[in-house]
Order: sequence, then structure tokens, then C-alpha cells
Amino acid sequence: MLVIIVGSLADVKALSLDAGVLSAYYHAGIVVHRGFSRMYTRQSRWYISALTGALVLIGLYSASLYNYLLFHSLAEIFSVVVAFGIFIIAWNSRRFLDNSYLLFLGVAFLFTGLLDLLHTLAYPGMGVFPEHGTNTAAQLWVSARYLQSLSLLIAPLLIGHRLRARFLFIGYGLVCAFLIAAIFYWNIFPVCFVEGTGLTMFKKVSEYIISFILIGAIFTMFRKRRYFDVVVLRLLFAAIIVTIASELSFTLYESPFGFPNLLGHFLKIAAFYLIYKAIIETGLIKPYDLLFRDLKQREEQYRDLYEEAPDAYLSVGKDGRIKRVNRSATELLGYSREELVGLPVADLYTETPSGKATAEGVFKRFLSGEEIRDQELEVRRADGSSVWVSLSVRPIRDKEGRVVASRSIMVNITEQKKLDQLKDDFIGLVSHELRSPMTVITGAINTALTEAERLSPEETRQLLKDAAAESESLSNLLANLLELSRVQAQRLVLYSEAISVKKTIQEAVDKIKRQYSAHKFVINLPRRLPPVYADPLRLERILYNLLENAVKYSPPGEKVRVSAKPQGEQLVIGVSDQGIGISPADQAKLFGPFQRLEKRPSGVRGVGLGLMVCRRLVEAHGGHIWVESEPGHGSTFFFTMPLSQTGDK
Ligand code: ADP
Repeated sequence: MLVIIVGSLADVKALSLDAGVLSAYYHAGIVVHRGFSRMYTRQSRWYISALTGALVLIGLYSASLYNYLLFHSLAEIFSVVVAFGIFIIAWNSRRFLDNSYLLFLGVAFLFTGLLDLLHTLAYPGMGVFPEHGTNTAAQLWVSARYLQSLSLLIAPLLIGHRLRARFLFIGYGLVCAFLIAAIFYWNIFPVCFVEGTGLTMFKKVSEYIISFILIGAIFTMFRKRRYFDVVVLRLLFAAIIVTIASELSFTLYESPFGFPNLLGHFLKIAAFYLIYKAIIETGLIKPYDLLFRDLKQREEQYRDLYEEAPDAYLSVGKDGRIKRVNRSATELLGYSREELVGLPVADLYTETPSGKATAEGVFKRFLSGEEIRDQELEVRRADGSSVWVSLSVRPIRDKEGRVVASRSIMVNITEQKKLDQLKDDFIGLVSHELRSPMTVITGAINTALTEAERLSPEETRQLLKDAAAESESLSNLLANLLELSRVQAQRLVLYSEAISVKKTIQEAVDKIKRQYSAHKFVINLPRRLPPVYADPLRLERILYNLLENAVKYSPPGEKVRVSAKPQGEQLVIGVSDQGIGISPADQAKLFGPFQRLEKRPSGVRGVGLGLMVCRRLVEAHGGHIWVESEPGHGSTFFFTMPLSQTGDK
């Protein structure tokens, strides 16, 4: 006996005080003080529990010596209290449970407890039902055990199903009423005990049948073991095994006051103690263990989903202070969790008057119960820097409908904001870039027309040359814009064929020469150059953009060199200048959309589109583009194009 109790006490674990368990205590209505629980070491609690257990057993044994009826009543009342306790827990948590295992067991135990209570009251000597004797008590006992064992057998099969609590209650009530009527009024329940002869065959066989049903219950539970917390499962197994032992010892008794009956009742106490440990104690202290592992896992999954969500989650109280945050929120805002919890949320909003006003407006709307979607706000991080977020807020209400807290999501939109800004600048730049060549062109043509008589043929040619050069740069800008729009709309189609690189390079250089005559252009190619498989107009576009940059970002008179050499299945083409160069930090962002670097010679025109278009076109050909540069000494842009397999040109 003692061994069983000691064994079951050994699992009394030191209270682990992580947040989940604490909230579990909180839900169970148990307030735990950290210091207090630490005072109790595992060891001292073990001794105290073992000692209490031993004292209770000795006390019960002494009671049995003094008055067997007292012992019997205490033993039965203990099991009745446990049974009712299980019912109370199961009934009150039924709304939170996805499956009916616990509810079913709870209702079953309520009615088992009721039969056990009647059994206690009907026990010979109690005098509650004077005209009924040992037989009635034994009949009530047997019916209670049938009900209990069959319920234990069926319960695991209900995991994953939902039963209606009311129907379950009515069903058990009817079965129980039928049994009571059969025993007390109709006298149709088989006789269990005959005064003078002892237990009937029915009673003995019943105890064996009940034992078999309980073995079956172990099997059904074992088959569903993955749904149980391992500690709860072990305790329930132990409880069933002890119940079987108890049943077997009851087959042996001759009189309701003999030793087998005493032993049977001790074992019943032990069995119910184990059930108490499994369901009541776990239910109150670690509800997540009891409500089955899948629920615990799901709760962990949800916690994980909240905690590890890629966007920042936070909850703000109606006092305006932050109550809860996830990891992304700490990362986004740059504060530790401890710093964030309790912080007035207003502290997060940047001090610009408009930012504060927007934030205050959002907070007021939240307090009035409004749901806020995708509000753009600038937020200040712990280090003083700021980020743009898109904030969505949902007010959480209490039962009376009052707003108590918020659930908020912040999505970092800083990059998007930057891009939006770049796009706005870009549109401004483009219209400016379109207008200035047009001014030159119309000016030149007008002058040529109106001053025709006064101008020398040489001067007229110069004016028209200027106009032609400007038209070239205009058409180049338009071509780049067209490529950009194709790329954005994912409508970039290449017309690739085997082409001579030499010819394309020559054409691009000729074109650039017409516009920029102050530079020297050098083409360095091996004598035999295999053809590439590319879209000729696109290849020319890439070369033109790179050549134009080389000219724009190097002083007049300097050399611009184009070279090419095969490497594996690719041709590597390079365009070098001896210009201002690009710092390593800038090299990384160069190929992004609308990027223009800070250090640009004044007066150099451009909209930050050329390199982005180059990159998209090169990548569309399956190649890649990169830059090697030393600030102050010039840059070389390299890109690869696939060599043509046919080799026919
Ligand atoms: P842009 O129209 O401004 O020339 P690009 O996309 O062609 O746009 O180039 C982006 C930026 O990269 C330029 O604004 C310039 O700062 C830098 N850049 C490009 N080519 C060179 C080069 N050859 N030497 C130095 N800087 C360059």
C-alpha cells in the first residue's frame, strides 16, 4: 500500500515557473508565490507527503479496529469525494475541451459516486435503509463497479468526438435510476450476498468480469496513448491495476467485516487516490497536461505562432501601456521585452507633431472601440532611429463590452516607404530629364529656322548636330523607361539569336560617339570572337547604358575601353573608365531601382535607371553583372552573355 502511495507522490515535481504554467495556476484560481514554492524543496515535500500518507493509513486502520463501519464510511466517502471532484472539474471545463473524454469520465464518476454513496448508506449497520441488508449494499457496489469499468473502457474511444453534455447527463441519469429501481423497488437485480452463505456466484463472477473490462480499459487507453500526457496516463494505468486488485480481493470475502473486505477498501482508496492525482491535481495545477497532449501541443503551437510570427505583435492596455509583445516586436523596436512591457505606447511614436497627432488619433479610435487597419506611422526605436510601420489594431472587450486592451500588429514598411519616396523623386526626375533635351532640341531647330539667313552652314550643322544628340539621349531614356515598364509588368520578351558581339559593340560605340565626342573610345577584342546567343537590340542597350555611364562619370579626354573574352560557356564583356569610381558600400546598391549615388559630379544628368535596366536585361539572358572599382581611379562594369552553341557567325 505504502509503496503505491509513495510511488505516486514521487511525481510531485518542483513547480516549474515558466509563463505557461503560471498562467495555468492563474486559470485554476491558485495564486502561487514564487518564493514560497521555492522554499519547499522536492525532498521536504516528499517526506511530508509520505508521512501524511502513512498517518492517514494508520489512522484508517486504527479506525477499522475501533469501528469497522467508521472505516468503511471514511473509505467510501473518500472515493465519493474524488468522484464528485472529477465531475466538477470535467463539467466546468467542458466548454474548453475539444473532445469528450474528460466530460464523459466526469459524468460517469458522478453517477458512480452516487451509487457508491448509496452503497455506503446501505451498508449493514448504517440504519439508513433498515429493511435492506448486506445484499443491497453489495448490489449497489457491483452496479457502481460495472458502471465505472464500462465507462473507463469506453471513454478513450470518445477522444476526438464531441458529445452533448446534457444528453450524456440524462443518459447516465437514466441508467443509474434504472439500477436503483432494479435494486430497491423491482427487486430484479441479481442477488449478490446471502446471509450465512456469503457471496453468490453472480457477485464473484461479476468481479471477474469487471476485472476483464478494466483490462480492456487499459487496452483502449493504451491504443489512444498518444493523446495523453505521459504522467496522467501512468497514473490512470496504476489506478486501473489497483482497482483490479481491489475487485479480486472482494471476491474472497465471507463477511462485510472480514480482512479481504478491509484490503479491498484500502486498495479502492489507493485507486481513487491515483485517479485524484491523475485528474484532479493535474487538472488544477497543470490543466494543459490533463486536457491531453494535443491541446497542450496546440497551445504550444499557438504560442509559437504568436511568438515567432514574422510581424510584430503587441497588446496595449486601455491605460496606454504595452502589456505583451512577441519577439519580432522586440526586434522591430530595438527594446528588450522587459523594457517594452509597461512602456507607454505613446513613447514609441516619433516626436514630429504630425506623428504624435496621428498616434493619438489612433489611440482614441481604439479606445472608442474602432478597429484600425493599415495605419502608416513612424515609430521611434530604442536607439533613436525610426521605422515606418503599418499598424492594425483590434480592440478586445470584456464581458460588458468595454474595451480593455488591443491586439495590434506592426508591419515594417520602411523599405517600401523608401521605395515610394524614390519613385516620387524618380517621376520628378524623369519629367525633368524629358524636358531638358526637348528644350535643347526645340531651341536648336527654332534658331536654325528663324536665323537661317544669318547663320553659316557650319553653325547650322552644329545646331542640328546638338539637336540630334539630344534626341539620341531622349530616345535612350524612353527606351530605358519602356524596358522598365516591361520588367515591372513581367512582359520582357527576348528575341535572341546568334549574333556577332564585335558588330554590336561597334554600333553602340558609334552611337555614343555621336553624343559624346570628348572621350576616346577603345575597343579591345580578341581576333576570333565566337558569337553570343542574345537579343541584339537588348545587348546594344546594355552596352549603350554602360558606355554612357563611363562617359558621364569620367572627365572629358579620358579613355573608355570595351573588352570581351570567352570564359567557359559565357562571354565576359567589360566597359571601363578612368573616372570617379564607386566606393565598395555604394557598389552593392548600384543595381537597385532608381538608385543614384550621393557623390556625382554636378550637372551630370540621369534618373537612376540605366544600371537597373542593364541588370534586368543581363539576367533575362541568363547572365550576371557586377562592378569592380577603385574610388578615384575608375570603374569596370562586367557582364556575361551566353555563347551561342551553333558558332555559325
Ligand atoms: P544614372 O541615370 O544616374 O546614370 P544609372 O542606373 O545608370 O543611373 O547609375 C546609377 C548610379 O551609379 C549613378 O547615378 C552613379 O552614381 C553610379 N554610376 C554608374 N556608373 C558609374 C561609373 N561608371 N562610374 C561611377 N559611378 C557610376
